[in-house]
Amino acid sequence: MAKGGKDRAAGTRLVTGGRRSEWTGAAVNPPVWRTSTHLYESSADLAAGRPNADGHFYYGRRGTPTQWALADALTELEPGAEGTVLYPSGVAAIAGALLTVLKPGDVLLVTDNAYEPTRNLANGFLKRFGIETRFFDPLDLDAYAALFCERTSAVMLESPGSLTMEVSDVPALARIARERGAASVIDNTWASALGFPALAHGCDISVMSLTKHVGGHSDLMMGSASAGAEWHARLRLCAQQLGNVVSPDDASLALRGLRTMGVRLAHSTAAALKIATWLEARAEVARVLCPMLPGAPGHDLWARDFTGGCGLFSVVLAKGGIEARARFVDALELFGIGYSWGGYESLVVPFEAKRTITRVPDADLASGDGAAIRFSVGLEDPDDLIADLEQAFAAMEN
Ligand SMILES: *Cc1c(COP(=O)(O)O)cnc(C)c1O
Repeated sequence: MAKGGKDRAAGTRLVTGGRRSEWTGAAVNPPVWRTSTHLYESSADLAAGRPNADGHFYYGRRGTPTQWALADALTELEPGAEGTVLYPSGVAAIAGALLTVLKPGDVLLVTDNAYEPTRNLANGFLKRFGIETRFFDPLDLDAYAALFCERTSAVMLESPGSLTMEVSDVPALARIARERGAASVIDNTWASALGFPALAHGCDISVMSLTKHVGGHSDLMMGSASAGAEWHARLRLCAQQLGNVVSPDDASLALRGLRTMGVRLAHSTAAALKIATWLEARAEVARVLCPMLPGAPGHDLWARDFTGGCGLFSVVLAKGGIEARARFVDALELFGIGYSWGGYESLVVPFEAKRTITRVPDADLASGDGAAIRFSVGLEDPDDLIADLEQAFAAMEN
């Protein structure tokens, strides 16, 4: 399959990306090349070495066609990307990207709604290595711009926030960072490149947890960072020095998931909208936090910048607190209780909105006590999911 099909629609690139005949032979998919050692023809061949780029057999840690095909497919999916580095988890990808753009003495700006382990990385490991983090309200551009100083070398963005769903003006945040000489890294797990082409919107490095939408079947953990040529080269070097590598078995599973990601996301997005609309009309719900829903917080920016959504959104309950929430959650039959999301099966996870939601405009938290639930809508029939929610609300009232 020829490279360079970036002018084709994203749905087509999901199918064609990374399928080079030199990697797949006559098979549709690249075989799982499980190997640590790559053999050389002769001592002269060994001495000649190999270019440090995907596509060259060198040693297992630099990958095989199985990992290269996945990285290549992800690069083709992301407009503006020249390469992709794979990591053993989404958190490892965030760490790999931040360690690439930062050095001791630097200041990092992190969006206040960042994924919790991102905060922990900034407040823990990065702090120990002499990097100062300042958190910013992603909805306040002026306050954000005022936080930059001489030492600010990077910003970490995430939109929507993966619990509280605030949508920020990423093109503006990235532009301000670029004007001040700082690199912008975005955690683009919620939308993926299908829903938010992050590099085209001005970000320098787009990170995804492939554990979620790309894997899609709750059976693997992996992360990626895609970037233009310059940042990609630096990401690659940093990942190599840290010894990051993903197994060819997992890469093969992720590639298999990627091929169907478009249809899965289209289904989950439509189902999530139907369910969020139903929830909005329920007396038990104070607030639906779903930027895809007209009238919901963040919808205007979402409609301006995003080309797609997914099945992940949250609600704040109106009354009853954590006891009522526990009765509701425990009564659900089709929604499992657990972390992660983006699998074929629906999930819920409870969280405390009062602690985490600081910026949702008009959120009427006074009427409830902030007991919130995040929903990940999977591939079940949405009417069955709604029936399940309805019986769980009945159980909550008893
Ligand atoms: C899950 C998640 C991650 C981390 O991914 P893992 O593969 O679980 O390490 C990062 N960002 C967001 C928004 C996530 O939901």
